[in-house]
Amino acid sequence: MGAVEVRDGFTALYGAEPEGVWSAPGRVNLIGEHTDYNDGFVMPFALPHTAVAAVSRRTDGILRLHSADIDAGVVELRLDALRPQSDKEWTAYPAGVVWALREAGHPVTGADIHLASAVPAGAGLSSSAALEVVVALALNDLYELGLPPWRLARLCQRAENVYVGAPTGIMDQTASACCEDGHALFLDTRDLAQRQIPFDLAAEGMRLLVVDTRVKHAHNEGEYGKRRAGCEKGAALLGVDALRDIAYDDLDAALARLGDEEEVRRLVRHVVTEDQRVERVVALLESGDTRAIGPLLTASHVSLRDDFRVSCPELDLVVDTALAAGALGARMTGGGFGGSAIVLAGAPDVDTLTKAVEEAFAAAGFTAPRVFEAVPSPGARRIS
Ligand code: ADP
Ligand code: MG
Repeated sequence: MGAVEVRDGFTALYGAEPEGVWSAPGRVNLIGEHTDYNDGFVMPFALPHTAVAAVSRRTDGILRLHSADIDAGVVELRLDALRPQSDKEWTAYPAGVVWALREAGHPVTGADIHLASAVPAGAGLSSSAALEVVVALALNDLYELGLPPWRLARLCQRAENVYVGAPTGIMDQTASACCEDGHALFLDTRDLAQRQIPFDLAAEGMRLLVVDTRVKHAHNEGEYGKRRAGCEKGAALLGVDALRDIAYDDLDAALARLGDEEEVRRLVRHVVTEDQRVERVVALLESGDTRAIGPLLTASHVSLRDDFRVSCPELDLVVDTALAAGALGARMTGGGFGGSAIVLAGAPDVDTLTKAVEEAFAAAGFTAPRVFEAVPSPGARRIS
């Protein structure tokens, strides 16, 4: 939905024009998976799919929320009654942002919000971060808080971790807030240093497909917690603050020191090699050799599948089918156990590849996947 529809929707709901309209995108992670809670490197880029919010201030301590995509009417909340983890509905995301801003001492006194989002929810494309960031940016502008995008991302992460109660890293919100058109964002999750890396696929005759498998396996959250705990154990056994501190050249020695801790060894091997793959992708893109990143994407998938063990049959089928049909590289993206995969392909191969993946899913008896092309797009911004 565009700015005009969301503006009109706001006016119809609340009986006055909004003060402005903002948008914030979903994201895919090009490479750097399960590295963000190990102080490592990630490399997301923004999708053309955005959450769009029309917003006005209020002065009476009331927050009114409405989503065009959820059949729940206008939800009215009192700011002084917002409590972490008290809300299990979609409203926890925008309310959590308001809560986080106020907790940090910013004088937000209320808002009317109407939003709509084209980011598929629950597909690993960060519809939740898009929702948080669009609200944070709107309030930052309207209340003249002057917070830079990376600070807004931090506050949104706090909203999701503490208010919603979902233990996620800093990547999603930073991607939505900070990405730039035609670029991927190289982010060091330790110090939040970022660099915009040119990623103009079309100019090089390439395309990037996102394949939403439309499955989310139920054990997802428990498994995420186990991986996180396993990585922490690895860091503790190796005497470092985070696995990021193990240099790639020291990996063999580190693995040897872990002795018979086979489970931890696999996790450590994934994280350390994945950080190195991100750095290699950055170097290749900066030297203009986009095609050469394909094998690194595939190597990331193999590591996530065999060492980190967060893939699933649907994601593996996308990757295997795409590679067999001539893709340059392919990998699961996001946390795993369902969600989406990405496929890097030469422009002429896109139709054949798409068909091959759709046919393979049908033959396996899986739900039909949603396949779309992802162009690196702008981050959050005011649109009217
Ligand atoms: P992801 O971020 O991978 O899409 P999450 O589980 O983190 O998955 O976030 C999905 C949740 O975000 C939904 O369950 C819903 O609560 C909220 N959400 C996403 N899009 C919308 C929308 N358009 N309107 C209202 N809530 C939404
Ligand atoms: Mg999310």
